[in-house]
Amino acid sequence: MMRFEGRTAVVTGAAQGIGAATAALLREQGAEVVRLDRQAGDGVVQCDVTDKEQVDEVFAGIGRIDILVNNAGITRDNLLFKMPYDEWQAVLNTNLTSMFLCCQAAQKVMVPARYGRIVNLSSRSALGNRGQVNYAAAKAGVQGLTATLAIELGPYDITVNAVAPGYIATPMTAATAERVGSSAEEHQAMAAERTPLRRVGRPEEVAAVIAFLASDEASYVSGQTLYVNGGAR
Ligand code: NDP
Repeated sequence: MMRFEGRTAVVTGAAQGIGAATAALLREQGAEVVRLDRQAGDGVVQCDVTDKEQVDEVFAGIGRIDILVNNAGITRDNLLFKMPYDEWQAVLNTNLTSMFLCCQAAQKVMVPARYGRIVNLSSRSALGNRGQVNYAAAKAGVQGLTATLAIELGPYDITVNAVAPGYIATPMTAATAERVGSSAEEHQAMAAERTPLRRVGRPEEVAAVIAFLASDEASYVSGQTLYVNGGAR
């Protein structure tokens, strides 16, 4: 099915994990895909999405943008009393401020084109998660940003939605496992126990939902956060 024929999509944080799976799926379904990440390489364009100058320059160079997937994200987990201020700032900048910057740059072309699909990565952690005050606050902020931009951009046929994954097996969760001294398999097994579907998710399972929200089939869905979490609370 070539449901994205003629569409140009920008995916941030697309070198690996959910971003890479999303870029691959959108391309497979006919989109021209621009993959952005902190480091350039193998079809990936360098763009640090926390840097306003870089975002403005890179987005202006892309020109037409029909679909924007704000996927870049990091974790810096710590309990409140141990969390250095720079970990708070880095997580807020990467997971939330980046979306403000990328949406602001993308709307410059989406509004005149009277078309756009924006999908933002939130997280199940938005509902609260021990050791993630920075990440939870940023991902809850993503939901507020999403709901607000859906209102502001709706009159231009631009939809704005969020996807909130549960535990997905990616380099991000593998790094978390390593930090707490577990193997990726042990860490995933613990997460699977807490999940009604009794397994963790795959990047492709999140990419499929992002692609739906980015498609014309989802033309009357806006301002929503869709949890992709195997039924976990
Ligand atoms: P990964 O860490 O595997 O991939 C994220 C990518 O984003 C990396 O390539 C990373 O580069 C890049 N990135 C980080 N900071 C920047 C930046 N400033 N500018 C550009 N690119 C950047 O993460 P996942 O695939 O697991 O996660 C993707 C999104 O989904 C994130 O927003 C995450 O918070 C969210 N999510 C993930 C869940 C999971 O269980 N995996 C659960 C819920 C939400 P680098 O390697 O250099 O840091």
